[in-house]
Amino acid sequence: MKLETHCHSSVASVCADVTDEQIINTYKSLGYDAIILTNHINWYWKEGYPRTSYKDKVDYFINRYNQLKTLANQKGLKVFLGAEVVTITQSGVHQEFLIVGFDKEFLYSNDLVYTCTQTKLFEIANQNGLFMWQSHPYRVGEERGDPKYMHGAEAFNCHFHHDNNNPQATEFCNENSLIKMSGSDYHHGDQPVFAGIYIPDDIQTEKQLANFLLANQPRLIVDQERCIIEREKYIKSEKNL
Ligand SMILES: [Zn+2]
Ligand SMILES: [Zn+2]
Repeated sequence: MKLETHCHSSVASVCADVTDEQIINTYKSLGYDAIILTNHINWYWKEGYPRTSYKDKVDYFINRYNQLKTLANQKGLKVFLGAEVVTITQSGVHQEFLIVGFDKEFLYSNDLVYTCTQTKLFEIANQNGLFMWQSHPYRVGEERGDPKYMHGAEAFNCHFHHDNNNPQATEFCNENSLIKMSGSDYHHGDQPVFAGIYIPDDIQTEKQLANFLLANQPRLIVDQERCIIEREKYIKSEKNL
């Protein structure tokens, strides 16, 4: 099964402008079988969500997942629930981790909105059987985490708005025996998508997916050359504005 591991949807991720229909069309047309929806758990929960209580905010986050999943399943695309969580760093520099293997009940009982350092999030992940991997560990302006407190990291992230320094990220994973992941960090309709992993066809649930990733290095979809080309094209188009 060809799986996108890093995808956002509007408006659960305020930074994303892709509709559910666009997400489904994009991934179906590129031959993906499944995606992990990894909407942000960050300040959006405090300021961007049209609800007030923490429980209501969880419901909103989960509803956006359920809406996409229902529509996607009709078109033959699987959707797994995931999240991208901001962690607190001593330096104050931005840092995010992706998690999969949880459900609504987990979020009800674990408020992750600016409550965790990397170490704390890893402890919670291990207590609950989640797979946790760092998003774009070498992206310019972000802080690489401690390899002792993560299961894996993105060796490849092809979001063309950023300098992700994938070769360093790959080396970091290799040196620290971390599970290497690949994801597009999809946010925008015009964003090129060419990352992901392959997983066994019989994986049906988030728990099964987390268990597989905790125990196996998946086959990665990586195209570093295209990453450089798309990044250069993007920088050029920005300058022409
Ligand atoms: Zn975002
Ligand atoms: Zn992301």
